[in-house]
Amino acid sequence: MVNRAPADEPVAPASPAIRTVLGDIAPADLGICDAHDHLFLRSPQLPGQELDDAEAAAAELSAFRAAGGAAVIQWTPYGMGRRAAELPRLARESGVRIVSATGLHQAAHYSPELLTRVGADLAGLFVSELTEGIGGTGPRAGMIKVAGGFHGLDRHARQTMTAAAEAQRATGAAIGVHLELGTGALDVLDLLCGTLAVPPDRVILGHLNRSPDLVVHRAAAGAGAYLAFDGPSRAHHATDWRLPEAVAALADAGFADRILVGGDTTTAGARSVNGGPGMPYLLCRHRERLVRTLGADLVTRFLTANPARAFAADWARAPHHSR
Ligand SMILES: [Zn+2]
Repeated sequence: MVNRAPADEPVAPASPAIRTVLGDIAPADLGICDAHDHLFLRSPQLPGQELDDAEAAAAELSAFRAAGGAAVIQWTPYGMGRRAAELPRLARESGVRIVSATGLHQAAHYSPELLTRVGADLAGLFVSELTEGIGGTGPRAGMIKVAGGFHGLDRHARQTMTAAAEAQRATGAAIGVHLELGTGALDVLDLLCGTLAVPPDRVILGHLNRSPDLVVHRAAAGAGAYLAFDGPSRAHHATDWRLPEAVAALADAGFADRILVGGDTTTAGARSVNGGPGMPYLLCRHRERLVRTLGADLVTRFLTANPARAFAADWARAPHHSR
């Protein structure tokens, strides 16, 4: 198909590209990337803590930019207040590249009515958000977010991952997985990469820092998946202090190219502009801490080359594409 782009959008690169809310970019143009975070998020599980203030999101992006940040991957999936229509303006005004997500979280984050409504053709929903745009007219999503459960996968998780695998095959998009308390990594890989035949390097496992089982980390990296160590600034994570050594163990075992880092701001109180660590923490305190253990060169790779590879997809060569 001929590659068309409106005059105000960048022309899509021919090979692997990262699909931002302002258009497709070459992976090398991604820059310093927060590989898992949220500008907008709403869930019945976090009442009163919604990330739903566009001006606070803009301020957080400016603070991240001032700390040297260039790109944010927002892992907020369908139906959780991701405010996709706001994202292009926020990206343009802040100068920070933003990738939005499609996909579905655990059932507990939704009403039964919503799950029934989208359940009939989940893969179709994911594909259309990745290729046509979110809500039909919004920016296109650049990744698929799904979720496992605590040390296992329920029916909803299996159904969602099956749809994600189908959408992955159709578009080439990466699948980012919320692991409940960091557990279930190998169950997820058995399903996604075993049963459903998703290439392991299209899978990004999130929250592994919450379960510092280095044997499981190594097995997941050895299978070829990306490991995202996110949310090092969340006070309720008793495992935060294990993160640098866990990452170092992976790097020592030869898996430095599988490691991603992110902030995972999920509540209004956690934003830096509200006095919390927020997105800048990743590039100030957390990067500094990782550099002490791993050296600056490796940490720069975790923030640039690795996310550039993990989130790039061969959109044009995948079976389903439009525009
Ligand atoms: Zn998250």
